[in-house]
Amino acid sequence: MEELVRKNIVNITPYIAGKPIEEIKRQWALKEIIKLASNENPLGPSLKAMEAIKKNLSKVNRYPDSLGFYLKKKLARYLNVKPANIVLGNGSDELIDIIIKTFVEDDENIITADTTFLEYEIISKVNGRRIITVPLRYFKYDLEAIKKKIGKKTKLIFIANPNNPTGTYVTKYEFEDFMRDLPANVLLVLDEAYDTFIDVDDFPAGLNYINNKNVIVLKTFSKAYGLAGLRIGYCLASQKLASYMEKARQPFNVNFLAHVAATAALDDKKFLRKTRKTILAGKDYLYDALSKLGIVYVPTVANFILIDVGRDGVSVFKEMLKYGVIVRDMDQYGLKNFIRVTIGTEKENERFIKVLKKVL
Ligand SMILES: *Cc1c(COP(=O)(O)O)cnc(C)c1O
Repeated sequence: MEELVRKNIVNITPYIAGKPIEEIKRQWALKEIIKLASNENPLGPSLKAMEAIKKNLSKVNRYPDSLGFYLKKKLARYLNVKPANIVLGNGSDELIDIIIKTFVEDDENIITADTTFLEYEIISKVNGRRIITVPLRYFKYDLEAIKKKIGKKTKLIFIANPNNPTGTYVTKYEFEDFMRDLPANVLLVLDEAYDTFIDVDDFPAGLNYINNKNVIVLKTFSKAYGLAGLRIGYCLASQKLASYMEKARQPFNVNFLAHVAATAALDDKKFLRKTRKTILAGKDYLYDALSKLGIVYVPTVANFILIDVGRDGVSVFKEMLKYGVIVRDMDQYGLKNFIRVTIGTEKENERFIKVLKKVL
């Protein structure tokens, strides 16, 4: 059969998602499970978003608004940009695909880090584009090394800032230094999926750079806004770049309930504050608890922590599963002795530490 399939597809290592929570419960006969594997919001979705969904359920017979009129208008006001600076997507995953389709020719290449969000590589390959991956340096994007890899055929660079799965970030100084030397015909995508959790002063907010003609910023409602299951994200770019991306997307790429929920969630400032507070307090607790156990971790500015478990991370992941705690092993990322844990509620964090202690 393989001869029927495009070579790009045959050669892809697929993204491995976890089994459904209900299935794991059944398999291990567990009463309660906590999932700290996908960096989701532990508080659930905002109440405002849920109310908006309920109120609009009876309208799903209609196609969604292709223009994203209300959501773009509200986002534009909130971010102090024009609606024409915004492109909406079925999660930022889809926007990564749209960006590649819009800007990267068949014979051009894409650069990113070797240990970062897996979708950059997978979606590049699905589209038959060559991707060059540059090793991290001390768990951080190595911008100097990336600079050296930029060639005549380079069109796009993906930087996850903060980076997933390491939680590290590129500083404002490093970013601006990198931008100074970036050729005008190379696009830089800053993926800011975790921007709500930043607690440092020298973070380069991508929004401030979208008037540069070659910067695109990716944002999502999946993490801090608690809407991962609805699939909605957006990107910010110059009006010119955004207009080309609009041409490349499908007309109804974002579903109606996602529009409605995201628009409502934007008004729920209280929920966002509470989410941030929960994560930052949870981070303090986990840092402290891990240090007391003598376990090494990578300091994070996101809602997850990369932890060095000192032995095969897959086996640690599997053993924790039996106690009803789902974390992420780092096998696919090439970090053998690590796990990544999403910061949860106070109770979840305590249970995670208890089980980790037992397993190690
Ligand atoms: C979670 C995550 C996203 C979000 O993807 P969606 O498709 O919007 O759910 C994007 N980028 C990174 C680096 C992430 O970790």
